[in-house]
Amino acid sequence: MNNYKLLIDGQWVEGACEPFKVINPATLETVATCANGTTEQLDLAVQAAQRAFKSWQHVSHEERKAILHRIADEIAANRDELAALIVAEQGKPFGLAIGEVEGGIAWTRYTAETEIPVEVFEDTEDKLIEGHRKPLGVVASITPWNWPFMIAIWHIMPALRTGNTVISKPSGLTPLSTIKLVEIINNHLPAGVINIITGERGIGSGITAHPGINKIVFTGSTPTGQSVMRNAADNLKRLTLELGGNDAAIVLPGTDVSNVAPAIFGAAFLNMGQTCGALKRLYVHESLYEEMSAALADIAKQQVVGNGMDEGVNFGPVQNKDQLDLVTGLVEDAKTRGARILCGGAPLDQVGYFYPPTIVADISNEAPLVQEEQFGPVLPVIKYADVENAIEMANGIDMGLDGSVWGPDTNEATTIASRLECGTTFVNTHAEIQPNVPFGGCKMSGFGVEFGLEGLLEYTAMQVVHIKK
Ligand code: NAD
Repeated sequence: MNNYKLLIDGQWVEGACEPFKVINPATLETVATCANGTTEQLDLAVQAAQRAFKSWQHVSHEERKAILHRIADEIAANRDELAALIVAEQGKPFGLAIGEVEGGIAWTRYTAETEIPVEVFEDTEDKLIEGHRKPLGVVASITPWNWPFMIAIWHIMPALRTGNTVISKPSGLTPLSTIKLVEIINNHLPAGVINIITGERGIGSGITAHPGINKIVFTGSTPTGQSVMRNAADNLKRLTLELGGNDAAIVLPGTDVSNVAPAIFGAAFLNMGQTCGALKRLYVHESLYEEMSAALADIAKQQVVGNGMDEGVNFGPVQNKDQLDLVTGLVEDAKTRGARILCGGAPLDQVGYFYPPTIVADISNEAPLVQEEQFGPVLPVIKYADVENAIEMANGIDMGLDGSVWGPDTNEATTIASRLECGTTFVNTHAEIQPNVPFGGCKMSGFGVEFGLEGLLEYTAMQVVHIKK
């Protein structure tokens, strides 16, 4: 069995503690063991990254761009092997894992090509004043278990592109594809520019408090994000916090149900619902309520649930036992409140963390399944009569990642969508992200954005150059 190691200063090393196991959620078998790093090893990685920063920050944009493209080429050459590793540790179907790797390649190439402009504030007879963007230093990337490979790319590529050095810390549940990614990246970089420390023994909190780290890009839950922010104050670390979501969608009267139901289902159950920007609460006008709920249940029943490596499977397991228990508990609670389970509604009685796609109707807006981020294969469908009330319910929670409005009249839907309190508001679609468009949350879903020029600039500080002519 493979034992995955830490990368510190260009060297692969064992963790100083006993390795931990990575479990396949479909079979519950051990996929591999992984090094358990210590905070002393974290210190060594930070020192290496600080040393490497001295020269990496001065490498030209052209060269960094070319390096990112070479990395993308090597990822592409290893596409199927990486996708299989993602399935083994995360559980998603192989086709979706291929999409995750290909998305990673596309994001890498887009990031490579993004130019960082010099801003000219004044260019007059006696003055030239410009804003130049400089890297921050050592960036730590802390990633979750739902899209482990792609989110690592989202963090690491802009950090490198802008001249920072990196410490990667993946989730202990899904570290393997990130380690393979770091191995590929390291093949193209000087020692110490990229490092990876795995392990859950205080590595996350060690990073947030570390005086040698200048920025943290964190994707994960809101409570952990709050802890990151509290710990980061001592040396004023820059932060990008991409936290939880509980996205609402509103379906307006007159919507063509058979036309939109597949898209709504896809947005809700993307990656078995374990996607921050998945549609998690569906508010449907009473005139369409039964038709929409039934259409979604029909699609849910057609999903083939199983091991993501098996032919024909398009719906994998939940990634871990805690998440499975959370989803199970929320649905059981909904049942006790009188909700109607149209399909699914209980874990499958077989090996693995399987929970079938579940549509829950006749549920009140106050139920925890609606109010909390369920982050799993369940969609509560809530009936409304007055659109003002639907908007109020959509905005009535403290999260604000994405939201959407679906309806036949685009202007009306757009007006309503603009009243949703969230980072991205969609009309007749949901959960679409792309590398050229900034993405981020408001309220307790975090702050800062990823992607596009704005996302790239989060890895830089402005230096104003003021020249008297
Ligand atoms: P999590 O917060 O439990 O863990 C995320 C990462 O933080 C892991 O690597 C973990 O090891 C690390 N960590 C744990 N304790 C830490 C500490 N005290 N200090 C620093 N790091 C620590 O999240 P998760 O369960 O892995 O992921 C699911 C959550 O992530 C959901 O809430 C989901 O909405 C969110 N998410 C958000 C986005 C987004 O872009 N907004 C994307 C994906 C996932």
